[in-house]
Amino acid sequence: MPVDLRSDTVTRPDERMRSAMATAEVGDDVLDVDPTMRRLEERAADLLGMPAALWVPTGCMGNTIALMAHVGRGDSFLALRDAHVINNELGTPAWLAGGMPQALPELTPEAVRATTLNTGPYYSMRTSLLCLENTYNAGGGTVLPTAEHARLVGVAKELRLTVHLDGARVWNAAVALGVSPAELTAGVDTVQSCLSKGLGAPMGSVVAGTEEFVAEARRIRKMLGGGVRQGGVVAAAGLVALERIEDLAADHDTARALADGLVELGWRVRTPETNIVLAEAPGMTVPAALERLTALNVLAGPMAGLVRFVTHRDVGKAEIDEVLTRIRGTEWGEAGSSSTTARS
Ligand SMILES: *Cc1c(COP(=O)(O)O)cnc(C)c1O
Repeated sequence: MPVDLRSDTVTRPDERMRSAMATAEVGDDVLDVDPTMRRLEERAADLLGMPAALWVPTGCMGNTIALMAHVGRGDSFLALRDAHVINNELGTPAWLAGGMPQALPELTPEAVRATTLNTGPYYSMRTSLLCLENTYNAGGGTVLPTAEHARLVGVAKELRLTVHLDGARVWNAAVALGVSPAELTAGVDTVQSCLSKGLGAPMGSVVAGTEEFVAEARRIRKMLGGGVRQGGVVAAAGLVALERIEDLAADHDTARALADGLVELGWRVRTPETNIVLAEAPGMTVPAALERLTALNVLAGPMAGLVRFVTHRDVGKAEIDEVLTRIRGTEWGEAGSSSTTARS
């Protein structure tokens, strides 16, 4: 049996979620309203501590909508080096939002201040947005704590930057820190959060902000082809997903168990803060390691020049033990050790 640790997006809806989908009350959400969609949006807004929210088919669309709403054509926006909006969204911040990305070398108030160009002469590029990411995917699911978040939002406001939070896994950050998701959106203008990752919905994200932002976001969603009619069928899955935030603690435990096991087997591992484990096989390139893992029926992926394992609700402690057993019985270190770093 393959153990699929490529992403928490591989989670499949269980019986309870499927039956909620099958019996969902629906309407035409493009014409006026789908009642289940509306309930999901209200629940998500409430959990995220935002005035209003809009369901969107994907997290990428949620981020794109936010950037299209916030970034003027030719404006720059700031995001941490290797942020999802910079590396993994096909250049939509430029292609669709018209923004120039400026990568922050590190996520500190000093870096934000130094990279914001609004203090120059009139012909300087204008910086209009700071995009945060919590948890930070390319960092290995690292958590941005509330005090640091507050400092960053504070300096952004001082510099008159809008703040968007790519909170695809903000639920994981909240569970890891023992705070409510709303505490992690303090001061942001907008936030995007995925229902389709660790929370297990088959599809969907929400993008949240003020009522005015959501009205505009609804227009942009339609423009991008993301207005869906009887969306209640998938919103029902989203409502079940939102009941499962606390379950993410189990994914963090399995990530820790996997990391500890890999260390014992001689891998170099970053201690996981949430459900993502970034690791390096002993004496082996990332592509070679991934190939060998695939041969063991253990599926992982490349991220930031390392092997990325993501734990999720469809993989328990028993499967992690099984993964470690398969790795333990294998020779590592003699293949591909001379070639250079892998793609991220
Ligand atoms: C997955 C992810 C997204 C995009 O979500 P999709 O639903 O896959 O489009 C955005 N940001 C981060 C940090 C992510 O991990």
